[in-house]
Amino acid sequence: MPLLASLQLALYALLWGLGWLTLKKERPAILHWMGYALASSASAGLLAWRPDGPVWLTHTGSSAATLLSLLLAGRGVLLFLGLRPNDRVLWAFAATAAISLVWIGPYSTPARLAAAALWNIALLVAISLLARKALFAEFGLGVTCIASVPVAALLVMNVLVMTQSLMLRTLDVVGVGSVPTGVWVVTLVSAAAFNFMFLFLVGFRMQKVLQRQASNDALTGLPNRHAMEQRLQLEWDRSQRYGKAFVAVCADVDHFKRINDQYGHAVGDQALIAVARALQASARDTDQVSRFGGEEFLILMPEADAQADGAPTAERLRAAVAALALTAPDGQLIPITASFGVSGWLLSDVGHGNVLQRADKALYQAKAQGRNRVVLHRAN
Ligand code: GH3
Ligand code: MG
Ligand code: MG
Repeated sequence: MPLLASLQLALYALLWGLGWLTLKKERPAILHWMGYALASSASAGLLAWRPDGPVWLTHTGSSAATLLSLLLAGRGVLLFLGLRPNDRVLWAFAATAAISLVWIGPYSTPARLAAAALWNIALLVAISLLARKALFAEFGLGVTCIASVPVAALLVMNVLVMTQSLMLRTLDVVGVGSVPTGVWVVTLVSAAAFNFMFLFLVGFRMQKVLQRQASNDALTGLPNRHAMEQRLQLEWDRSQRYGKAFVAVCADVDHFKRINDQYGHAVGDQALIAVARALQASARDTDQVSRFGGEEFLILMPEADAQADGAPTAERLRAAVAALALTAPDGQLIPITASFGVSGWLLSDVGHGNVLQRADKALYQAKAQGRNRVVLHRAN
């Protein structure tokens, strides 16, 4: 049994090792978890070496390796969750635990087991308390509950081991006996749960990042054209099914090329970020602002009327952009304005492209009429 367990834990170490080689992200945490799997594999391996191996290694060494494995797993979790581990406290803890185990020595099995269980419990409780808020904030209640199952199982097991050891009359017995099957089951099942869970969370986090990169514009952080096209299609489907009208507002920064030419591309980028922020801040909560192209933005207003909602909102957005106070590196004030075209869904439309075309036409008129204005496409 110990040999098989050691092998299984070594395979987790291999898995994390492969993860470390192939993934560029989460490397510090992955390295810790590889260390955790190696240390727990070593702990089980040392148990398998009983009774032939040196007693210090197969008894004290095994307990210390288990404790080290929990320490590495926990520190990895803290790093993964972006929490800064307090290494002074961790070192002090590790040193105290090591000294106590060495002091007890390998020949007082119950005392050693009780002490090791106590340190394990302290570590599990501390890491759980530190990690639970961040885990909940990022991954939600389900993951937090699932993660607490192996921790709770390990806690119960250690409490049982500790009380059982303490209940023995003498704490000074040489023990070379085998580890109970229950302990193995809890250890291996919780190790499997821990490894698979965090492997899944690493993948889940990466997928979220990729999803965000694919649907958001890198400069402004707004949804990009691809994401907006999908939302437009969704709104179009709703309009077909429930007759819910929606409004599209096309916005284009005026004479943006001049800003680039006069102040440089970097200042142009900052201007785009400022415009994006102003649009987002002035739009209603239900409106969806996106960067549709270079210096063009599209605002989708679900369940809205072009005249009653679209035009006043666009006017508010226009005023917000015009009120931006951008300063060039030389301290000069950069005037910035944008033009807006507004159009709503019509019953005669055959696709969301029709709404966009009309909004774009209205925008073109706004440009032609002198810019820094809102033109509402009038259906007649
Ligand atoms: P108009 O008022 O007619 O819209 O004039 P304009 O100068 O804004 O229009 P034009 O389409 O000629 O120029 C748009 C400029 O936007 C050209 C392009 O270099 C610039 N641009 C597009 N994307 C970016 C970007 O990400 N960063 C910066 N700095 N400039 C960009
Ligand atoms: Mg343009
Ligand atoms: Mg422009």
